[in-house]
Amino acid sequence: GRVPFIAGNWKMNLDHLQAIAFVQKLAWSLKDATHDYSATEVVVFPPFTDLRSVQTLISADKLELGFGAQDVSEHESGAYTGEISAAFLKALETPYVIVGHSERRTLHHETDEQLAAKVAAAVKHGIVPVICVGETAEDLEKHGPSAVPVAQLRAALAQAADAKDIVVAYEPVWAIGSGQAATPEQAEQVAAQLRIVLSEVLGEDVAQATRVLYGGSVKAANIAGFMRQPNVDGALVGGASLDIAEFSGIAQFL
Ligand code: 13P
Repeated sequence: GRVPFIAGNWKMNLDHLQAIAFVQKLAWSLKDATHDYSATEVVVFPPFTDLRSVQTLISADKLELGFGAQDVSEHESGAYTGEISAAFLKALETPYVIVGHSERRTLHHETDEQLAAKVAAAVKHGIVPVICVGETAEDLEKHGPSAVPVAQLRAALAQAADAKDIVVAYEPVWAIGSGQAATPEQAEQVAAQLRIVLSEVLGEDVAQATRVLYGGSVKAANIAGFMRQPNVDGALVGGASLDIAEFSGIAQFL
């Protein structure tokens, strides 16, 4: 079976001092809840400037929390002012990196081609990419529920047909930060289609081992319905990941 994956995308929130305090409190909260990390992986995605502090805290205190970056450059190194390479993330022992979040696609005009190169860069350096896909409300109306996410996933894997270890996050744009989550049945329908793409591109074994997450207005109150779906293996949480009680509640979905 696939180990459930509960991820907190902090977006542009919490500086490195706030991050240290937050991660300590989150670890205590999960300890109080006797959280079994082998049964559910819990991973935080802080801003770049927090990563060193979070990595040091997690390794020094032997916390079982995972962490990752929110983005990575598609380039190896060189004259790319402001960019962070996969090699830098690897040097920090960063296990995961989010790629293709809808906010990067929309606000920073990231293309499918760039995303494919980012996935390839992460895979090359042994960092697990958390590949985000999802349709807008307009896409949903025009193309139905899974056409756009399916095409985005195919495009994202265009340079990574040998990838063995990835995570996919289905995040309908209309559900992000709106308070209006997809229904568990909607999430399952798209997740099942995404798993078919994984099987076609990466093979059936990798497809069966890959965690497919749902993201978009996930809260402690609605997580259980998603986790009951056979093809939904976890959640990518935005707003609710900044509230310790709420996020540890999501991690205790059972
Ligand atoms: P919300 O949980 O705030 O809707 O955000 C979802 C998201 O974008 C996670 O990457």
